[in-house]
Amino acid sequence: MAAVPALFRSSATEAASPSSDGPSADEVLRQLLEGNQRFMKGETTGPRRKPEDFRPLAAGQRPEAIIVGCADSRVPPELIFDQGVGDLFIVRVAGNVVGGGGALVKGSIEYGVAELGVPLVMVLGHSECGAIKAAIKHMDDRDALPGAIAELVNRLRPAVAKTKGMPGDRLDNTIRANVTLGVETLRTLRPVLAPAVAGGRVRVVGAVYDLRTGGVVLTT
Ligand SMILES: [Zn+2]
Repeated sequence: MAAVPALFRSSATEAASPSSDGPSADEVLRQLLEGNQRFMKGETTGPRRKPEDFRPLAAGQRPEAIIVGCADSRVPPELIFDQGVGDLFIVRVAGNVVGGGGALVKGSIEYGVAELGVPLVMVLGHSECGAIKAAIKHMDDRDALPGAIAELVNRLRPAVAKTKGMPGDRLDNTIRANVTLGVETLRTLRPVLAPAVAGGRVRVVGAVYDLRTGGVVLTT
């Protein structure tokens, strides 16, 4: 993707109108999935990572996708999508939690859409997610968790509850359910995202990254 130092959009109204100068959400998604294919095959190009790529961005950023991913050290978005500086606006929090009163996460995503005019939002879960494992264990065992970990895990409760008794692997089911809940929350989130999604300017998708294969699969 071209990291064009560009206009810093100043209002949600402007960003909510059809974008005529940037790539569409579908085009951005295609580029991300192509980058992931390169990553899987060991054919990464490692674009835009030199000092001369960073310097022009001091004047402004125009990222093309928002990635809501897990804090897990094994899921670095720029690397698994083979993207460079200025391409991705990334919000990382353990368990890639969107809902449950997470105003900081939602606000960050709204900022990317309203102020930076980003057309694509991807909620990215991953296999073997420790936060999801902890949430399942916590709800099964009703064990005590230290500090703010309990609050974090509580925000994953809806996904854990949704997959209880479901056939298949409970962890994988819960990882996917958590992504789906995040996507649904964002698609209906007023006043910034919902009208932009309804108007076709913004697309919100869900995906899961497989730690073993390096592949990203769209889920919603
Ligand atoms: Zn995780």
